Amino acid sequence: MTRFDPFFQTALEGLSRRHLRRELRPLERDGPVIVRRDGGTLLNFSSNDYLGLSVHPALKARSIEWTQRFGTGSGASRLVTGTSEQHRLVEEKLARFKGTEAALLLASGWQANAAILPALFRLSMEATGAPAVVFTDRLNHASLHHGCLAAGIRQIRFAHNDLGHLEQALERHGGQKGLRFIVTESVFSMDGDRADIAALKALADRYDAFLYLDEAHATGVLGPQGRGLSAETGGVDLVMGTFSKGLGGFGAYVAGSRALCDWLVSTCSGFIYTTAMPPSLLGAIDAALDLVPTMDAERRHLAALAAQLRTDLARRGWSTGLSSTQIVPVMVGDAEQALALARTLAAQGVLGGAIRPPTVPPGTARIRLALSAAHDAGMLDRLLRALDEGGREHGIVR
Ligand code: PMP
Repeated sequence: MTRFDPFFQTALEGLSRRHLRRELRPLERDGPVIVRRDGGTLLNFSSNDYLGLSVHPALKARSIEWTQRFGTGSGASRLVTGTSEQHRLVEEKLARFKGTEAALLLASGWQANAAILPALFRLSMEATGAPAVVFTDRLNHASLHHGCLAAGIRQIRFAHNDLGHLEQALERHGGQKGLRFIVTESVFSMDGDRADIAALKALADRYDAFLYLDEAHATGVLGPQGRGLSAETGGVDLVMGTFSKGLGGFGAYVAGSRALCDWLVSTCSGFIYTTAMPPSLLGAIDAALDLVPTMDAERRHLAALAAQLRTDLARRGWSTGLSSTQIVPVMVGDAEQALALARTLAAQGVLGGAIRPPTVPPGTARIRLALSAAHDAGMLDRLLRALDEGGREHGIVR
């Protein structure tokens, strides 16, 4: 107990009253799509381990091997004594994977977005003497918002994936002196839809804007050989992504020009002031980067499962919103109903997380289903039966 605890207690009570209190529930993973919780077994439709790589023997083996050879920690930040030959090799492999001149490792996707954006926006001040002019998709991830917030930038928000609206905004702010940035995602984490990267790139070129693309949910899953949607078009100024989802590990990357990566090494606080990635993670990423390009069959299976799920859900009257990827939201609307539905799913042996405001806009609570290449048709049947049961039980009108 400290004398500040009453403040925390009062705040927690307020959060509970507004249904915003969140709690951690331990569970144990048993393979790529099974978890154990509260003594029961659940089929997991709530993980971002899209290719099932987090339990792949090759990743485990290289992670263990590099730990045995190099230890559990890297001992210091990259600029001090933390950079090893393995960091260099993995960054080179990443750049080849993304088809860019260079790549840089970062501690996590959240940290990458939160730290790179402020560095980029400072560049505008240095280069032009004027603040950056920043155009952001309204549904961008919290870490992208955080990066803008940390930089004290007023975002010019465009309607989700509405490039006509973005163009109007670019036109309207055309006279401003600062560097222009378009910040968006290639696959949106809560809706599972994609941005049109070629059209974004054309707009960025026309209006001389820097295109910043978050490929967290596309990396390993979409684009040629899982290289992300930016690999289809090329020429995106900065691509970031994570190893924590399709690549089955942890950590993040930036891919872009050599000048960009060299500049980040000297200016991005989230790179400079944090300890270098440890050998265990580097080993897992190194093995994932060998495997991912060879996994077209798994990607085809995943895309077919997602298409099947959308069709089956639509037939039963459920809306899957904007989904066109492995992320398939089951739209509910009301937050309490979404929670109730998630509870029924769990009682039926299915883990499907309820996503509520403020993570999604008010009135758009949903069950966010995330498919994995390790799922199969029988598992989808179980999921659909559980959703039928939940829909009936809670009178969710469709
Ligand atoms: N960007 C997007 C679009 C995300 O969905 C996430 C993870 N939820 C992140 C960044 C953060 O990545 P990480 O989990 O590696 O911190």
